[in-house]
This record gives sequence, C-alpha cells and structure tokens, in this order.
Amino acid sequence: MFRLDQVSKTFQHALALDRISLEVAPGKTTVLIGPSGCGKSTLLRLLIGLIKPDQGTVFFDGFALDAATIPAIRRRLGYVIQQGGLFPHLTARQNVTVMADYHGWEAGRIDARIAELAGLTHFPADALDRYPGELSGGQNQRIALMRALFLDPDVLLLDEPLGALDPMIRYELQQDLRQVFGTLGKTVVMVTHDLAEAAYFGHAIVLMRDGRIAQRGTLQDMMSSPADEFVGRFIRAQRDHLSVPGAAT
Ligand code: ADP
Ligand code: MG
Repeated sequence: MFRLDQVSKTFQHALALDRISLEVAPGKTTVLIGPSGCGKSTLLRLLIGLIKPDQGTVFFDGFALDAATIPAIRRRLGYVIQQGGLFPHLTARQNVTVMADYHGWEAGRIDARIAELAGLTHFPADALDRYPGELSGGQNQRIALMRALFLDPDVLLLDEPLGALDPMIRYELQQDLRQVFGTLGKTVVMVTHDLAEAAYFGHAIVLMRDGRIAQRGTLQDMMSSPADEFVGRFIRAQRDHLSVPGAAT
C-alpha cells in the first residue's frame, strides 16, 4: 500500500529519519514502535504528505507522493494525530462530521453514517452532543476514530491512539479497535511505545531507533533472533508487560 524508498528527513539539527526503506502491506496492521524521538510520528506525517522527505520517495498505491498526487491520496487516508486533535469548541458530532460537511453531504446521509460509526466504535449515541471536555479520554479517542473513518478511507494512520488512557479504558479500547480493524479490513499503520500493544495489533512490527529501522517482523522474531543488542535491550525493558493474550494473526 505504501512503499518508502530511502527516505530521509532532517529538522534543523535532528536527523529524524535516516534512509528508511519500508513496505506497508494492504489490509494488514503495521505497528511502528521505538523510544521517544526515534521518528515514529515523523514517519506517519510523511505517509500522509504533511511533510516532505529531504531525500527518497514515498509511494502510495504505486503513486509517488507529491504536490500533484497528495490531494487525491489524502482522501483515501484517515489520520488520528497524537493527542487525538479534536476541536474543543465543537461537539463530538461536529468533530466527527467536519469532512462530510466540507464535502457537502446531506443531513440524512450524515446521520446514517454517524449511527453506523457510533455502533461500530461503541460510542454512546446520547453523548454525541457533548464537547470533548465533557467526555472521557476513551470516548474522545472513539470520536477521533469515528472522524478518521467517516469518509471510509482505505487506510488508517493512528499516532499513539491509546497513549494517554488509564489501563482499564485502554484495555477495552484495544479490544474494540482490533475488532474494528478486523471487521473493516483496512490497511492500518499505528504508532505505539508499548510492545505488548504492538504484538496485540501488529501483523508486522517495525522497531525504530534514531530514525532507522532496527528490526522488522513479529514479536516472536525479535525475541528469538534480535537483530542487534538494542533490540534485545528494548524487549527486555518491556518483558513484564508482554502478557497480552492473542497476538494478531
Ligand atoms: P517520536 O514520534 O518517535 O517520538 P518524532 O517523529 O516526533 O519522534 O521526532 C523525531 C525527531 O525529530 C526528534 O528528535 C524530534 O525532536 C524531531 N522533530 C520532530 N518534528 C520536529 C519539528 N517539527 N521541528 C523540529 N524537530 C522535530
Ligand atoms: Mg510521536
């Protein structure tokens, strides 16, 4: 679905991505993981064309991302930024429908789509007219997900969608999210810093370090044959949390 060919990105003094080559399989969930600052969010922002690589090319469905192709490609991508990015002055419903309003959808079609997505994401319909500040963290993440799904994109890009949630809410939302991904068969690229979560969602896990890919594969691959000393250390540091049942198959 995506192919990155030797992609690099530098910010002022920071080399955020260093000659990344990567393929993202369609219909599967690819998880980006690694220490804070290793380039996960930058990689996601490159995939949606919000930033341009200094070197190398990002391809989506065979097309190189550039000024000419990005508008059409964006319509096929749903994106949830780190922290959710909801508009605080809009209600949940208004947040969810911004893109549909922009495209001039009729009210009836919008209502039907909201009902469908609220069911899919287990969002309580009677809370749709509340503002983000009046909803729980988990509910806000469901809203962010509904907004990203509204126009039925082929691809979902999610930047730490469960990062700020307390453990029980997070557990519930993990289960719901994986069910949504499975039901819809979307291509998903998701960022997390939690290895158990990566294993739970990821058909492929991409472990990054300092703007490079340290290892790509399954958690089992990384545990049985770590590519280098860093991979082994990263896994050992999280071993106490590696008890989530039912990794993605
Ligand atoms: P991660 O999401 O893995 O925590 P990021 O992709 O956000 O990491 O950042 C990678 C590196 O690039 C970091 O060193 C970060 O400080 C730097 N960086 C990211 N975005 C910017 C920016 N807009 N301006 C300057 N530096 C940035
Ligand atoms: Mg980030």
